[in-house]
Amino acid sequence: MKAIAKVHPYQGLTFIESEEPKIQEEDEVIVEVISASICGTDLHIYDWDEWAQRRMQLPRIVGHEMVGRVVKTGKNVRSLDIGDIVVGESHIPCQTCYYCRTGRMHICKNLKLLGITIDGCFAEYCKTKEIALWKLGSKVNPEDASTFEPLGNAVHSIFETNPANKDILVYGCGPIGLATIYFLKRLGASKVIGVDISDYRLSLAKKFGADKVVNSKSENVEEIIYSELPEGIDILFEMSGSKDGFRKGIKLLKSGSTAVLLGIPRGDIELNIADDVVLKEIKLIGVFGRKIFETWYLLEKLINEYGFPFEEFITHRFNLLEYDKAFEFLKKGTCIKVVLKPD
Ligand SMILES: [Zn+2]
Ligand SMILES: [Zn+2]
Repeated sequence: MKAIAKVHPYQGLTFIESEEPKIQEEDEVIVEVISASICGTDLHIYDWDEWAQRRMQLPRIVGHEMVGRVVKTGKNVRSLDIGDIVVGESHIPCQTCYYCRTGRMHICKNLKLLGITIDGCFAEYCKTKEIALWKLGSKVNPEDASTFEPLGNAVHSIFETNPANKDILVYGCGPIGLATIYFLKRLGASKVIGVDISDYRLSLAKKFGADKVVNSKSENVEEIIYSELPEGIDILFEMSGSKDGFRKGIKLLKSGSTAVLLGIPRGDIELNIADDVVLKEIKLIGVFGRKIFETWYLLEKLINEYGFPFEEFITHRFNLLEYDKAFEFLKKGTCIKVVLKPD
């Protein structure tokens, strides 16, 4: 089958002809990929930066956001049938560790990561496990559903808080930030302000419902926020992974409020824990992945209820073999989600 893999320990990816995956364990499922989307993580892998080098053994078929059709199931698979349309949860839990056994599979200590620690979905077929597949409901076009994974990050983040009537800062308006803004406005948030360094992304943040947007490269974030909200913000969603996002975002919080931290910074970040966290009774909440499967139920309910502007969210679609072009677009930054389709 056709697949895109990380073969060499330097920049770029390689087209390979690989054997189709086979069922080896009885809870495995083979999915024929309908479409797969590119994630920020895939850019790290493409560039072969330190993050990727620490996590991956080569060669590896990459890609972790997918929707597809079930074509083969192991003997123990009971919830899925051949032909079912499924979306992949890219974090595959072991189901036996302490965290899995106490209802927290999303922070399993033996998580396998599709397209990182095991072969992924930028291919015609992908092997995964029954426990990591979500049967797609009828209201969503399968062509769009590979993006459920980042949408799930947004939904998981939002439901760590109660956004109703709150003034909220979303720091970072990439795909997850945009989805967060969209759903927050439908869940009764008061004022939602989006911050980013890209005017392109900020224009989309407005379309997705942000009441105000701030370009942190050319504008003074603190000044603008305090002029809008003299007491500060009720909730911070840190989705940029930038030092500014953590430092400025946390400082802008009202006393007794909450910061949801999803962005992954490079290196350590120094904070004034006494003044900015302890004395203000700030709650810091880390969010990783999606709750399996609470987040997925919530996400599908939200989409069924409020719809989702996939036509704005997925800005480019390419054939799998045009992956180099797709990555180029992503690097330029004038896109949100880019979807690949094996034909
Ligand atoms: Zn992803
Ligand atoms: Zn586990």
